[in-house]
Amino acid sequence: MVDLEKHWVGKYARTLLIDFHIPPEVSNLCSAFNAEKLAKDLVESNVNAVGIYTKCHYGFSYYNTKIGIRHPGLNFDYFGTLAKACKDAGLVVYAYYSVARDSVAYQNHPDWRQTDSKGHTFLLTKGNWGVVCFNSPYTQEVVFPQIREVLENYEVDGIWWDIVTFEKDSCFCPYCKKEMKAEGFDPYKPYEHYIFNEKSIERFYQESYSLIKSFDPKLQIVSNSTGDIGRARRCKDWLDALVTEYIPFRHGFLYWMPYGKHMRTMKQPFECCISSWHKAWGDFGNFKTLEQFKYEVAHALSMGGIILTVHQPFLDGNLSEDFISLLKEAYAFIKEREEWCIGSESVPYIAILADHATGESDDERHFNSLRGACKALDESHIQFDVIDEDEEFNKYKVLILPNNRTLSTRTIHRVREYVREGGRIIASHLTSLTKLENGKVDFALNDVFGVKYLGIFPESIGYMTSFHEDIAKDLPKTPLIVYDQFVKVIPLEKTEVLAEVRRPLFEVKEGRSYSHAHAPPHPLPPTETACIVGNVYGKGRSIYIAPPIFRAYYEHNVPFYRILISNLLDLVLGREKLLEIKTGPSVSISLMSQENRWILHLVNYHAERRATLPLPTNYEDWSQPTPVPDPRQPYYRLPSHEVIEEIPPRYNIPIRIRLPKTPKDVYLAPAREKLTIEYKDNIAELIVPRLDVHQMIIFEFE
Ligand SMILES: [Zn+2]
Repeated sequence: MVDLEKHWVGKYARTLLIDFHIPPEVSNLCSAFNAEKLAKDLVESNVNAVGIYTKCHYGFSYYNTKIGIRHPGLNFDYFGTLAKACKDAGLVVYAYYSVARDSVAYQNHPDWRQTDSKGHTFLLTKGNWGVVCFNSPYTQEVVFPQIREVLENYEVDGIWWDIVTFEKDSCFCPYCKKEMKAEGFDPYKPYEHYIFNEKSIERFYQESYSLIKSFDPKLQIVSNSTGDIGRARRCKDWLDALVTEYIPFRHGFLYWMPYGKHMRTMKQPFECCISSWHKAWGDFGNFKTLEQFKYEVAHALSMGGIILTVHQPFLDGNLSEDFISLLKEAYAFIKEREEWCIGSESVPYIAILADHATGESDDERHFNSLRGACKALDESHIQFDVIDEDEEFNKYKVLILPNNRTLSTRTIHRVREYVREGGRIIASHLTSLTKLENGKVDFALNDVFGVKYLGIFPESIGYMTSFHEDIAKDLPKTPLIVYDQFVKVIPLEKTEVLAEVRRPLFEVKEGRSYSHAHAPPHPLPPTETACIVGNVYGKGRSIYIAPPIFRAYYEHNVPFYRILISNLLDLVLGREKLLEIKTGPSVSISLMSQENRWILHLVNYHAERRATLPLPTNYEDWSQPTPVPDPRQPYYRLPSHEVIEEIPPRYNIPIRIRLPKTPKDVYLAPAREKLTIEYKDNIAELIVPRLDVHQMIIFEFE
């Protein structure tokens, strides 16, 4: 259970972080500022916690500091004045602190700068935000003394860290290099450097935890960018809540899901940090629609998260009145749902076992397999968590290994034992591929998969065909293309072939084409190779898929891939299905538990068409992933993202759910409308009459 007495931040689901990054040339800052009025407005807007800046990315402080530099355009103690007014109004107050972005420290101490392998340092946002290294003396000479100064002089409830991170291909500052050498890390090996960076981040949290809690153990510590696979577990003991940003303008609406589904397995409160704006952080003069706001908070609440919204005041210190009105409605929406959300935990069922980062340059694409698995399961209305290698496996009925390249030897052993004892796995593509002791390359789990690895087909595409009748429901009878490379495997003697491979007639390349795109399937199957196989291992079973089907689903959005994944899950689950919900793929579900109750969330997504598309330079090269927008472009030149303006309601959604015991009451929340159900042999059948953006179905037990 989440310990909400120790990590009491988890009881406050409605935080506003008042962004405050102000360049040095701005004068007469906060000329019309009225702290008491702002605090009153926030309370009336249903805010119950507020984050206030002590220091921004420019490196300026907003309180009376003897260590840093108070912003030159500010003639009073902004932080202290607002913190007191908010405390007097009954709000929880967190002191925000920007760690690795500090232009003042960057300018004054060149040796403190984060540095990449080529010796470049980082000045972000048009050369204005200098990035410094927290492995340098900066932490002990600036960060910790300032935190001590804040805690000694102001009444606050906690610290909110931002940017405890390293920039890409860093850090090669003299302090990092010296430490890596002393500890035996090779800074030029990406994976070793990644591990060193993660250890550095953990050490920062550990040391700051001791400092902050020495003032008062009840002070809460929250930090941005802590939902990553591996980092969440390493750092959670030094934090009271984990955080990941939810920013559709940069990543779309799916991006946060793996983090949310992962952070909820950590038995710790976690924040969904959402932007109030339309196109970017600091997008003055615009903000998102109320419907989109509601969708985003419903999505986060459904996974067990609390909400922190970010908005920045105008020059005079006042927040936009329009934003205040928007916030009031969105936070009222949260408030009426909190009773069924705060402290809730995921009901374990299916787990996606996630890789951590590799430190390599293709890391961003590496995670598309995880994202694709999340997208496919979410759209199939399947309850799932995203777990790391240290999670308990046995509470899950199926483990999905979407394309795991970083599994440790210990984890390989645990997966094998999990299957031997009756667990089921679905694995794809390069999962567990390694160099064996005899020098040959094969899957470390080849005995569990029931295949032998022969290499990778040279073509950039392949076709799946001849689906076994057990998995063929709603799939085409003719070959189905996958826009990615297939692994070449031969099944072992007792392994069952569930689908075959067809290669393309030839690979389309410069000077050799076939019609518009790629060549059709070759008429003959490749000798002995298989596309999907099923294998019984010990008391359990496995399914192995040769193409990277999860990544392909994320990158190419072919509904057949999702149907195939769903059929494979049905095959391994047999009669043990937890949930069946008949509705469209854009409805997300999440099954959570509180004491003596289950909460089934339905979250309805619908977006308006985007206006422009990010086109690859060669748009007929299907093997290439969707290009990542060039970050050097001005943000407003980036393609428009989907916008949620209106969510059409869905009606009469049939649900079939396997319950742990007979429910004494079933109702819709927050409306508290009683539902009639058919109940037999632990299976409840019911109809949800209407779903707007969010509906909760509550099963109360004795
Ligand atoms: Zn460094």
